[in-house]
Amino acid sequence: MTELWPRVEPLLAGVEKPARYIGMERGSVRPVHRPSAVSWLLVYPDTYEIGLPNQGLQILYEILNEREDALAERAYAPWLDMDAAMRAQGVPLFSVDTHHHAGEFDVFAFGLAAELVYTNVLECLDLAGVPVRGEDRRPEHPIVVAGGHSVFNPEPMADFVDAFVIGDGEEAVGEITEVVGAWKRGGRASREAVLRDLASIPGVYVPSMYEVDYDGPAIAEVRPRFDDVPEVVEKRTVADLGDWPYPKRQLVPLIEVVHDRLNVEVFRGCTRGCRFCQAGMITRPVRERPEEQVRTMVREGLRRTGYDEVALTSLSTADFSGIDGLVAGLVNDQEGCGNVSLSLPSLRVDAFTVGIASEIQKVRRTGLTFAPEGGTWRIRQVINKLISDDDLFAAVEGAYSQGWQRVKLYFLIGLPTEMDEDTLGISELAREVVKIGRKYTKKASATASVGGFVPKAHTPFQWFGQNGVEELRRKVFLLRDDLRKSGATLKWHDPAATFAEGIASRGDRRIGRVIEHVWRNGGIFQEWSERFDLTRWLDAMAAEGLDPDWYVTRHRTDEEVLPWDHIAAGLHRDFLWDDWKAALQEHGLPDCRWTPCYDCGVCTDFALEHVVASPVPPAGGSQGTGQGLGFGREVPVELITKGQTQVAAG
Ligand code: SF4
Repeated sequence: MTELWPRVEPLLAGVEKPARYIGMERGSVRPVHRPSAVSWLLVYPDTYEIGLPNQGLQILYEILNEREDALAERAYAPWLDMDAAMRAQGVPLFSVDTHHHAGEFDVFAFGLAAELVYTNVLECLDLAGVPVRGEDRRPEHPIVVAGGHSVFNPEPMADFVDAFVIGDGEEAVGEITEVVGAWKRGGRASREAVLRDLASIPGVYVPSMYEVDYDGPAIAEVRPRFDDVPEVVEKRTVADLGDWPYPKRQLVPLIEVVHDRLNVEVFRGCTRGCRFCQAGMITRPVRERPEEQVRTMVREGLRRTGYDEVALTSLSTADFSGIDGLVAGLVNDQEGCGNVSLSLPSLRVDAFTVGIASEIQKVRRTGLTFAPEGGTWRIRQVINKLISDDDLFAAVEGAYSQGWQRVKLYFLIGLPTEMDEDTLGISELAREVVKIGRKYTKKASATASVGGFVPKAHTPFQWFGQNGVEELRRKVFLLRDDLRKSGATLKWHDPAATFAEGIASRGDRRIGRVIEHVWRNGGIFQEWSERFDLTRWLDAMAAEGLDPDWYVTRHRTDEEVLPWDHIAAGLHRDFLWDDWKAALQEHGLPDCRWTPCYDCGVCTDFALEHVVASPVPPAGGSQGTGQGLGFGREVPVELITKGQTQVAAG
């Protein structure tokens, strides 16, 4: 292995935030590379500040480093200045822990949380000297792996990734280590042979083992090339989070990062059934961490890291069945977090959660965030976010009356069946929220944050034709005009970026050529508004002879083969189609944690069940949630006890 520190160090004086590249954080390790261990490079393809807090990466980093037969290091995408300096000096991508050459690791594994980072994957591979296309790699090159929520439609990245891990990675990384270790010991003979072995691991999808036939622009069939390769790859699910108390040694960054606090995951999965929410659909069933383990992780984590803030994370933390007891216990635990701030990053919209908020945020109540997602009750029934106007107003009243001054509201625009009265319902709600606040303080303010809806794979809205750029802009301007002089502020996400996300989210294998074209034309860091330019994407689509509207704004039919049909998130396609039809009829569907199962397929097919500590719903548990997707990703509905409402970057 080539150590690059002597060549990296001289570059640091000339770049912004050199601490991004030096490692040595508390909680990090400097593993000794040895022939008997499979070396993993875990890469988050965005900056250090965005990537370091990623819990998935930190969990796998620890699990792999605990194994005798593996070791793991980390890398992040170098920012533009460092990238240019590295290219100018011929310095390849390196790990931040020991500054070894990234291209010399056995496994090069990406965490893909959002689609617009895809071009950064190519940049990282190229910087490491690894051919970006799988077909050009030779036995000496790393096996390129990817996981994360975005890979539930892996096809746009099929040309670049050798093997995708679908679902939870805790167990799969061990199995991949064994296969790659055996390949190494056998002299790294045929790359095709090791990929075929990887394809036999449950939850691992190896795209080169599948042929795709087209019928004009449509997919006719996706079929395995060999009999021993599964027709459908089923996601991995860790049955009991109690078996995986990770991360035990959370990394403490050297510079400020997003979510800069101790993060403890209290449960995985969500059965609220918000129809726009891919995260909720693909992570079912609900698996709660035992309360006692949460307390231990909080106590130990605070002791190790020195943080003065802890977040209990999940898709909808107030839905944790023992949340009130847990919060009260933590707040009163002088040994644990008696003197630290506690935050719940995802809150439902109801008075109960405001009550929890007031329990943990006793001082400086300046900002509180809710996500009603839709402007009218009608559209909220369509998206199954069953929050009435009264729920919202009661929560807001509770917040202002207890001293909060700012309320932020998250909404999606471009939802199925949306009419202008639904869009304008957003401004009506925002105006009413300001009015409620002004009863309590002249300083009361409200911000409506709107993002364009991107339909995602494995959701009931996967068949919906996304709104185009012009239509989303029209809706934004409608709101902007309607909110003039209202006392409420409007913020919106760029509809052009929403369109590009639509191309990458529901694309098929042919979109790989588009991603490569965008990358070759300088399109990296596409998640960053100052770096994004839709023209690059449209030029790439034109160059590849692909119609953007066919991919983005077209409604799909029930008969159509979808690019991800050979990937199983557990939800029956019939269930999703019926739920899509129910959406169009404005019918809601209750949370199956507390109602009889409606056979979506996840528990029955995977012989799993919800792991819920308390057998009865928590107070307010039958109401809407504060979780969801906005800007095509999980919207963190942050409640920060230091008094600011934060929106996660990137
Ligand atoms: S199988 Fe039933 S209980 Fe399990 S997530 Fe689906 S609807 Fe809920």
